[in-house]
Amino acid sequence: MNSLKDKVALITGSSRGIGKAIAIELAKQGANIMIHGFNESSTFLETVDEIKSYGVKVGYISGDLSKKKCMEKIYTETVNQLGDIDIFVANASMQIEAPNWLDSTQDEFIDQMLANVWSTIYFSKMIIPKMKEKKWGRILTIGSVQQEKPHYEMIPYAVSKSAQMNFVKNLAKIVAKDNILVNNIAPGLIDTDRNKERMANKMSLNELLSGIPLGRAAMPEEVAKLAAFLCSDNASYITGSNFFIDGGASL
Ligand code: NAP
Repeated sequence: MNSLKDKVALITGSSRGIGKAIAIELAKQGANIMIHGFNESSTFLETVDEIKSYGVKVGYISGDLSKKKCMEKIYTETVNQLGDIDIFVANASMQIEAPNWLDSTQDEFIDQMLANVWSTIYFSKMIIPKMKEKKWGRILTIGSVQQEKPHYEMIPYAVSKSAQMNFVKNLAKIVAKDNILVNNIAPGLIDTDRNKERMANKMSLNELLSGIPLGRAAMPEEVAKLAAFLCSDNASYITGSNFFIDGGASL
């Protein structure tokens, strides 16, 4: 089960939610983990302790992914604390809702594009040279069912997720010869803090569930198992692909 022993994984937004679940799955496979969150909250520090209990090396750092200096610091700290990065999971995202799409602003659009797309590109630029030397690497992005299925209440967010998928396809072709695999997971409704309010309201929960053939939300661990598979050697012939994990919501 230790197929990722001594690999170094940086997972953005891993202080909670899907990112945390992915960090745990990768730690179970023996990878050393860099935990990242926007703030160094008590939840963040609890996650760090929890991952340590799997007996792997754990580093941690906070920072805003829409800021270039923060991204550079996250990269440098990861390498200093744990070594060169073998697995990069671009999980964190900024999601700004505008129930009337005409209210979307340029600043909100730019912030989401920076945090959700440019950060993936910029981290990849920093990380890939060392992956190339090792002839092994995994870049996994977390998209959304909305990258394909329209959602009129968060158009700029959906646009950013589509753009990220486009980057995945381009990058996959460029780095395939170096045995660096690049894939995307597109979750549907996952039971995380992000959906807490919506899921606590019976009416909005029923509305959400009515669009999901399996009739339920998924737990973050269900996404994490797919992520861990894609980061492992078992996924050695998969690149440039998108995987919906959405209970059929994209159908
Ligand atoms: P979450 O519970 O809201 O956690 C988000 C994580 O990202 C936290 O660690 C947060 O840090 C960090 N973060 C947020 N904005 C950031 C920024 N600008 N810079 C740095 N870090 C930032 O999210 P989640 O539900 O697990 O979602 C994870 C990924 O799955 C996201 O890409 C999301 O778009 C995607 N997704 C989720 C769902 C869903 O139903 N949950 C569905 C489709 C796609 P703090 O803890 O410090 O705030």
